[in-house]
Amino acid sequence: MRLRNIPGSREAIAGSEFVVHEDVMREKRGHWDEVFGNDHPLYLEIGMGKGRFITELALQNPGCNYAGIEKYSSVLLRALEKRSSLPQLTNLLFLRMEAEDITEVFAEGEVAGIYLNFSDPWPKDRHAKRRLPSRQFLARYDRILQPGGRVEFKTDNQDLFAFALEEAAAAGWRVDAYTRDLHHDAEMVRGNIMTEYEERFSAQGNPICKAVLSRG
Ligand code: SAH
Repeated sequence: MRLRNIPGSREAIAGSEFVVHEDVMREKRGHWDEVFGNDHPLYLEIGMGKGRFITELALQNPGCNYAGIEKYSSVLLRALEKRSSLPQLTNLLFLRMEAEDITEVFAEGEVAGIYLNFSDPWPKDRHAKRRLPSRQFLARYDRILQPGGRVEFKTDNQDLFAFALEEAAAAGWRVDAYTRDLHHDAEMVRGNIMTEYEERFSAQGNPICKAVLSRG
């Protein structure tokens, strides 16, 4: 997602108490409990877009901490607008960063789980390593995830979904569960939280795919 540049979005983000700033996020590597003020399990959504999914997740699970990662200020600003109307939420923070740098921000085993929702498909072969479920990214997730930590991936893009399953196998990850039609899978859809893209694409008639991955 790339919105038109919104003048002042960088400044609004820089001034927000709900955003962890670049210098701080690197400094707190291995000490995210200090940032949240407790040692609750920490979950990430990488590429959160306008943030509806992770905000809802944080509201439903006050015993867990959530960090929403987004590379574009103009998009993160939208998530922040929603977040600002929920000042009582103490378990949700945003990070404007490029996901490639994730191991510089989170230490080995510091993360309980990772959500990837409607990640950019990067259709050209030569861009495969930029796809968030690629083996290169799985290797990064492997470093920051605690034992038993899982990656939950949703997309309506069949090619990207097939790619994710192949990459998981190539990287020695296990596919704990998957479906190519989440909204009609009684078991996997239980508790499903719709993302902005999920709502848009399923309204267009696209089935939603979901896979849950863990290390073998
Ligand atoms: N998860 C949301 C948005 C999906 S669009 C939803 O399901 O509705 C994908 C989002 O991921 C975009 O906002 C894009 O800017 C962000 N993104 C893609 N690659 C990224 C990367 N490498 N690092 C950080 N954010 C990324």
